[in-house]
Parts: sequence; structure tokens; C-alpha cells
Amino acid sequence: RIAYVNGQYVRHADAAVHVEDRGYQFADGVYEVCEVWQGKIVDMPRHLDRLHRSLNELRIDWPMARSAVEFVIRQVIRRNRVVNGLVYIQVTRGVAKRDHFFPAEDVAPSIVVTAKPTSPAASQVQAEKGIAVVSYPENRWPRVDIKTIALLPNVLAKQHAKENGGKEAWYIDADGNVTEGGSTNAWIVTKEGALVTRPAENGILRGITRAVVLDLVQKEGLTFDERPFSLAEAFEAKEAFVTAASTLVMPVTRIDGKIIGNGHPGSVATRLRELFHTATDLQTA
Ligand code: PLP
Repeated sequence: RIAYVNGQYVRHADAAVHVEDRGYQFADGVYEVCEVWQGKIVDMPRHLDRLHRSLNELRIDWPMARSAVEFVIRQVIRRNRVVNGLVYIQVTRGVAKRDHFFPAEDVAPSIVVTAKPTSPAASQVQAEKGIAVVSYPENRWPRVDIKTIALLPNVLAKQHAKENGGKEAWYIDADGNVTEGGSTNAWIVTKEGALVTRPAENGILRGITRAVVLDLVQKEGLTFDERPFSLAEAFEAKEAFVTAASTLVMPVTRIDGKIIGNGHPGSVATRLRELFHTATDLQTA
């Protein structure tokens, strides 16, 4: 495998950043994950728009021109011969002697790009079974709309889920509402058949997959409601599912051990999963 690190393509096994990279010391950086599907990069412009926004919010410069980042993404996919998989892009504020204050202007941001193959067949097997989620108290900072590499709360939430038989954690805020998953956005389908997901301005990462699914929901003429929903409402839902570039539309069949709907992936989630790529922007890698 090959990785791109600050201007060089290197063997993945040898890919390294300096110990004084601010990503390493302060989690002072942001990232993106894009899907590669059948040799195509899924929604790269939307992901790079969000990267731009994350960088802007933290006042980190682009490490190089956006077009150069696109070029590197394509190169890393090609050099790793990834047909189905994920590309990871990380930008940090750069390497400087440890000090909380921003480094001098001449410190360049660091960039790392990696790509790995994934198995659509294995993911499909999972989707046909559905996953279990486990609730967890929302304990993150209020700026979860920025896709930072500071993921310790997400690590702890997901580990808690795993140790309790789940694949994903659902954060529950002080009002008893579901914010999102540890690495996914959360959805339910009500008994009346309406899709519900929390509004994007409100304590969640603005998932690209979430946005695509919302486009799809509108195109299909399905009823939807962007509003907070509670854990109690989710227990009673007809269906539940999560969305992310890494899982696409993934049905949820159990929450905190309780069976959702009839215990099998729902028809709405299944259909949205099938249609998903028809609503995406696909570019040749
Ligand atoms: N929410 C969180 C906390 C995430 O980390 C992610 C993705 O990693 C998502 C939601 C889903 O975002 P996207 O659909 O852009 O992958």
C-alpha cells in the first residue's frame, strides 16, 4: 500500500508524521472520508466543500490548492488499485514546537491521504441483518459540526457500544433526544411512514451521506421531517437506520437490546440503500 504524506508518496508501512505535528499533540486538525465505489469517487466536491468549511472554522489553511488535493486523492486511489473502498484525507495545523498558540505563519499545514479497499459484499451481508446500537450520553463539545480528528468521545462511545453488543453508539442529549451516532447520522421511520432525522444545524456533523439521502427522499416523494427525535420514539419506530460514507444506509434492528420494528431491516432503509448511488456525484478516480 501507498500513502501520501506532505508531498511524497511513500510505502504505507513507512508513512509517518513528525512527533511535534499538532495533530498528534493537540488533535489540531480535520479530516474527510470519501467512498470509492466501482472505481468512482463518491461526492468528492461535497466532501472537499466540507473540508474547506472545517479548515475555515479552525483557521487552518489548505495545505495546497484544492485541485492539487483532488489530484492526490486520485493518485492514491490509483496507486493502491482501490476499486471499492475508502479514501482518508487529514489536514493538521502543521509541525511546530509544542505550544498551544498557533505556530508562526510560515508553518505549513500537514496533509496525509490514504486509501484502503473495503468489501461491499461484507457490508451487504451486514445490511441484510441490520446492526445493533447502544445509547450513550452526549458528552462532546458543541462544535461537532466541524469534522475534527479529536475523536476521543466517539472512541469511548463506540467502545461502550461494542462492549454491550452493538456496532454503533447513539448519543443522547440532555433532552433525551438522539443527536447522532459515534461515526454516523441517525434516522428513524415512524409508524406513519415518515422519515425523521435531526436538523443539520443542531449538534451533529452535517453528513454528506445524510444530505444525499435527503435528496433521494425528496426525489422519491417520501414524507420526511427534519426534527429531533427521542430515544423513546426510536424504540417505537417502524424502522431505524444510520448513514455514513463508510456504511452507506445501514439498517438498525436493535437499540439498547430492544427490537425495532419486526427485528429485520426495514423496507424504506433497504430501498434507500439500493438507490443510494443513483443520487450521488460519481467521478472517475
Ligand atoms: N456523524 C459523525 C460523528 C461522523 O463521524 C460521520 C462520519 O464519519 C458522520 C456523521 C457521517 O458523515 P458522512 O455521511 O459525511 O460520512
